[in-house]
Amino acid sequence: MRRIGLGSIAGRVYARAGLAKARGAALALAALSLPLSAVPAAASLESCLPQMRAQAVKAGVSQRTVDAALADVAYDEKAVRFSTSQPEYKTPIWDYLAFLVDAERIADGRKMLSRHARVLAQVEKTYGIDRHIVVAVWGVESDYGQFRGDFHVPHALANVGCSGRRAKYFRSELIEILKIVDRGDVRLADLQGSWAGAFGQTQFMPSTYRRLAVDFDGDGRKDLVNSVPDALASTANYLKNAGWVTGMPWGYEVKVPAGYRGPSGRKSKVSVTEWGKRGIRHLDGAELTGSARAGLLLPAGAEGPAFLVFSNFDAIYTYNVAESYALAISHLADRLRGAGPFQVAWPTADPGLSRKERLELQKLLLRAGYDIGEADGRVGAATRAGISKAEARLGLPVTGRPGQRIYKALGGR
Ligand code: CA
Repeated sequence: MRRIGLGSIAGRVYARAGLAKARGAALALAALSLPLSAVPAAASLESCLPQMRAQAVKAGVSQRTVDAALADVAYDEKAVRFSTSQPEYKTPIWDYLAFLVDAERIADGRKMLSRHARVLAQVEKTYGIDRHIVVAVWGVESDYGQFRGDFHVPHALANVGCSGRRAKYFRSELIEILKIVDRGDVRLADLQGSWAGAFGQTQFMPSTYRRLAVDFDGDGRKDLVNSVPDALASTANYLKNAGWVTGMPWGYEVKVPAGYRGPSGRKSKVSVTEWGKRGIRHLDGAELTGSARAGLLLPAGAEGPAFLVFSNFDAIYTYNVAESYALAISHLADRLRGAGPFQVAWPTADPGLSRKERLELQKLLLRAGYDIGEADGRVGAATRAGISKAEARLGLPVTGRPGQRIYKALGGR
């Protein structure tokens, strides 16, 4: 559904640098990295708001909702900055997965599978989507409903709808979200989400909401904020609509011969048998056979874990338009089902950290005297700067990454 990079926890991993929660150093660094001209003044919001309000009313939103939603909208520097800046830091795939698929999220997900077993069985029956995939999306998007987002969505959308490259798109998303309020599906006060407009327990964009949200608990409202059945069923409905084939796996890990230089890529699909002919094997060495079409995903090159991915992987991909995201969902789903970690290690001497370890690393940095702001588990520019300094002082390669090497060097266990 394309959530413009920052629409979810998954997206936020890429862009923590810009997302520093008003922590002094991080904020200053991020602000300095932008030319002043890229940040439109508050005046442009004031001059554009009346026009936007009129546009919403013309599109059929009630005057009452427009007034309630946009009466006290103020200039939001952070939302505007996020909409115009590119993340300057690319997260390695092993950090991304270590963060999103950690022991805590697996354990919490298993609890959710059991707590919501009845509704998940109904969702599975109605939409044909594997419940582990649905729960994995929920876990990654909002930590099973615990994370709601840092922005009041109508205000954020009004801001980014008045500035930047995709103003027109965000304006139409604003109108969509006001219509959701008009219909009584979600209360205005409940619209916490991302600066780009994604909200609810599985982070739907407003326009996606209109197309695909469903009322599954039967109370007459499509409420992806407060209703777990609505959120889970809507996610399943999304995946069904994205072409999910019931009963097919997303894919599986495979073994690639040493020095493999053959074709790869999610989109270059051939039959499983054909991959077998190219030397790809099951992890246990067994021959690959089958007529289903798959792509060979090599997220870290032929030296790292390799996966055959089917069309269901593509369906997951559309949720956040990133292969790393689709792999995180797929792997978390497998882990929820009881599978173990990938068998082939990532090609790095410095694997990533779980959320608990990230928080612990921040505490260790603070204890060692590095001023990284508050230890909140969010690794932004300030934390990375602190890591770099600590690495330099300890004679380690300077990466600025929250990895196992610096974690252990500072006494983490
Ligand atoms: Ca409902």
